[in-house]
Amino acid sequence: MKKQNRIRKILKWLNHYFIFFLFIAFIITCCTMLFVSALRNSLNITLTEENISTAAKLTFLNVILLSLVFTVIDTVRRKLTVERPIKKITDAAEKIVHGDFSVRVKPQSRFATDENFNNVIDCFNKMAEELGSVETLRTDFIANVSHEMKTPLAVMQNYGTLLQMPGLSEEKRIEYAKGVTDGARRMADMMTNILKLNRLENQQIYPQVTEFDLGEQLCECLLQYENVWEKSGIEIETDIAENIKVKADAELLSHVWNNLFSNAFKFTPPGGKVTVSFTATEHHAIVKVTDTGCGMTPETGKHIFEKFYQGDTSHSVQGNGLGLALVKRVVDIMHGEISVESTLGKGSSFTVKIGRC
Ligand code: ADP
Repeated sequence: MKKQNRIRKILKWLNHYFIFFLFIAFIITCCTMLFVSALRNSLNITLTEENISTAAKLTFLNVILLSLVFTVIDTVRRKLTVERPIKKITDAAEKIVHGDFSVRVKPQSRFATDENFNNVIDCFNKMAEELGSVETLRTDFIANVSHEMKTPLAVMQNYGTLLQMPGLSEEKRIEYAKGVTDGARRMADMMTNILKLNRLENQQIYPQVTEFDLGEQLCECLLQYENVWEKSGIEIETDIAENIKVKADAELLSHVWNNLFSNAFKFTPPGGKVTVSFTATEHHAIVKVTDTGCGMTPETGKHIFEKFYQGDTSHSVQGNGLGLALVKRVVDIMHGEISVESTLGKGSSFTVKIGRC
């Protein structure tokens, strides 16, 4: 079957090229004959019909043979330098279509192919790598969401079962009902964060830039945590520059401050201290949130801006590892910078730098 296919291919090829050769050979032979007869007339040379017919046959055959040789050479060249790299790229693309993102195409030797093919191969490999990481992110994301949802659901289920017990005291009933509402709140918080992050990542939120007093916004956000710091006896220190205006999306920025403040209070034990400072240069606004909390290891520090990453599992009930991912995304959208310095057991300091206009 394979042999038959090959023979059919060769016949097709011959058929395709043979008509072309015959046509070219015919034209060249006619031209040569015209040239010979013009030469014969002008130089008065006597040529017999037989001479002319031999010359025509020779020219015709010569053209056929030479074209055949050059076509074979050209076919081999095309096979090696064009068809081979194209086949490699097509095979790899087919693997990607079937979900194998690990496939990569080897660059061709510079002598064997056109440099442009290597550019295409280079782009193809980058695309495969990018698709692979998007796929990993997607599967990780689904796994993380499912995992994060399972915990509050299990808690709510348990409290729901307990609530069904007959003869519950009023105190127990309130406690179990609170367990259910806490679980529901946790899930609602997570969903809100996921939706926010999703909208931010898909750029469905375009910054609504207005001019506002950043110091005022920081104070307003901080005051929302007044009962938290009073309850846990955390000392607050502020050094906030006054009357400094920035041009930015106020609502998006408030997410940044709320997340940084809530983390600072969450990870700082009673009796600790949270410091908020805001300074401004001509072009930049710099906000620093420092705490004397549990701090983090350098390894944790490397991952805190990843979605669902939680370094400190003792506080995992109060969060879902999405806060700092959201903060980072907002800062990126504003072309700002965020950095963290932290020492385990001593505290952390987050610095956000954004442009003022
Ligand atoms: P969550 O607070 O919900 O766990 P985040 O995205 O806000 O999620 O934070 C990710 C991780 O970064 C936290 O689990 C914690 O390990 C670390 N982290 C963030 N802020 C602080 C802080 N102020 N002090 C110590 N660790 C922190």
